[in-house]
Order: sequence, then structure tokens, then C-alpha cells
Amino acid sequence: KEAKRCASDQPCVCRFYSLEDHRRLQMEQTIYNRMKRALADRHFHIYLQPKVSLCPQAVAGAEALVRWLDPEDGALRPDAFIPALERNGFIVQLDQYMFEQTCQWLRRWLDAGWNPPPVSVNLSQATLRRPQVLQRYQKIQRRWRVPPQLLELELTETMVSADLDYSARLVEEIHSLGFRCSLDDFGSGYSSLNVLSRLRVDTIKLDKRFFDGMLSQQDGPRSEQIVAAVLGLARQLGIKTVAEGVTCEHQTQFLINHPCDLVQGYYFSPPIPAEEFGRRFLSPQGRAAFSAAPENS
Ligand code: C2E
Ligand code: MG
Ligand code: MG
Ligand code: MG
Repeated sequence: KEAKRCASDQPCVCRFYSLEDHRRLQMEQTIYNRMKRALADRHFHIYLQPKVSLCPQAVAGAEALVRWLDPEDGALRPDAFIPALERNGFIVQLDQYMFEQTCQWLRRWLDAGWNPPPVSVNLSQATLRRPQVLQRYQKIQRRWRVPPQLLELELTETMVSADLDYSARLVEEIHSLGFRCSLDDFGSGYSSLNVLSRLRVDTIKLDKRFFDGMLSQQDGPRSEQIVAAVLGLARQLGIKTVAEGVTCEHQTQFLINHPCDLVQGYYFSPPIPAEEFGRRFLSPQGRAAFSAAPENS
């Protein structure tokens, strides 16, 4: 009956939306409407989370993570808006913005004589696929006169495993421009070893889930064995290691013993505004305070 009333000769399609679907679609529309203005109005902010070497304890790197500080909705975490930005392609502009912000901060700290460590930025699948993306990044890096070895590009394991040939060429190109390259969320996909054998990345970042697993009553010992084996494998291959999502002393001790090159997690610091990162970890006063702090502060 319904189909007859329809003017089109296509059969009518009836879809049911749950309240949750409805809210999600509304949220995406809101995000889409606001994001362009947000970039122009500078509502996207760069936060940095330190990567810490353990013996001796020192800040030896950082990861740039975006925060959307909306005047109406407050702070939005990436998980709430990045998937929508990925679907509509806006993420490419955001990734480039974050890269440029990173270059600006590095330039400021270099000018201040603060000897900044390498800073990594996350790339999305859409950014990777953009022709000439690395040339564009190189232009930005040169404009800000930042040594390329202070810049690291993070590719996720899931992203690169979609097309290993393409990703392998991309990693070569990243190196030819002098940037570093790391494999993010390592161990979260289903072809980690395959990816590792094909891509000449400098660093793997062990997924947070391993370290959550370590704290579980049931899976703890197994997770520890797996982490130890992955760290050993990386060492044999000459690949640096970063542990993501380290939240306690027990995990930290384990990573000292096994050992892991750098650790990143709330135990040391959450992501903080770039300006604060400089003051707390790079300025001479901040540096002195951090290295003098007891291990678990
Ligand atoms: P990621 O690249 O794997 O970044 C690490 C995430 O783990 C960050 O979440 C960080 O805040 C969180 N984290 C670090 N230590 C701990 C810890 O000890 N406990 C817990 N519970 N979490 C910890 P965040 O900032 O919410 O970012 C989520 C994801 O969003 C990132 O995962 C990355 O995939 C994506 N993302 C963030 N910024 C950008 C960006 O500028 N461009 C792109 N394409 N993606 C981004
Ligand atoms: Mg990352
Ligand atoms: Mg990660
Ligand atoms: Mg992630």
C-alpha cells in the first residue's frame, strides 16, 4: 500500500532508527556544522603528553593530541568527534593544523634554547591517502625551520595493514624527508607481525590494552609474558618501544626490568596544554623539578 502512494518508481524503503542512532546522527550534524567555524575560531587546541625514559627518569618525547574546547559544549575528547571528522574528510585539515601547531611550538622552544625532544603527531587514514601530503608537511616543517628529526608521524597498525605495499612506500618516503615514523596501537590489530616485517618503522607503541591486561587478576601473567616477548622482538629488530597507557608503579617497574625505551601514561602525566608542557618539562626550572621528583610523583 505504502509503495503505491510513492511518486518514485523505486520501492519505498523503510528504516528504523533507535533513539541512540538518532542522537548519533544529530551529534554528527552538530559536529559537521561547528567544525569549520571551530578551526577558524581556534577552538582546536594542541595538548602534549610526555614520553618518559625511565633510568634516569626524563622527558624524552611527547605526543600531540587534539582537544576541542567548545564554548558551549566544553572540552570534547577526540573519540567523540574524530570518527565523524574521518567520515566527512575534515580530519585532513585538522591533522595538518596539529602538525603546524607542533612545528610552531618546537620553533618557540628552540628559540628559547630549551632543547625540545621529538614530538609525534597522529595521522588519519584520509591524510595518508592525500596525494603529496608529505611534501606539504615538509613545506610546513621548513617554513618553521624545525629539524625534521624532531618530528614523528604516528600511523596506526589498523590503518597501514589495509594496504601494506602503499604503507611501506610511505614509510620510506617519511624517512627520506628526515621525519621519524612510529606504529601506533601496536598489537591491537590482527596482523601485527606481518606489519612489523614489512614496515621499517623506528618505533612501535604498544597498545594500552596490554597494560590494562597486566592489572587483571586473571590475564595479568599472560599479558606480562606477551609484553616481555614483544619488547624482546623489537630489541632484536632494532626498533624502539613506547608503552602506552601506563598508570601505576607495578607496570613501571616491569618496564624498567624488561626494558622498554619510553613510557607514556597518566602515571607520569595526562596530556596537558602545550604551553604548560613547555613550562613543566622543558624550561630549566621545570626540568630540574621533574628529575628531582620521586619516582612515583
Ligand atoms: P592514540 O594516538 O593512541 O593516543 C593515546 C591515547 O591514550 C590518548 O587519548 C591519551 O590521552 C590516552 N592515554 C594516554 N595515557 C593514558 C592512560 O594512562 N590511561 C588512559 N585511560 N588513557 C591514556 P585521546 O587524547 O583521547 O586520543 C584518542 C585517540 O584519538 C588517539 O589515540 C588518536 O588515535 C586520536 N587522535 C588524537 N589526536 C589526533 C589528531 O590530531 N589527529 C588524528 N588523526 N587522530 C588523533
Ligand atoms: Mg597516537
Ligand atoms: Mg595509541
Ligand atoms: Mg588510538
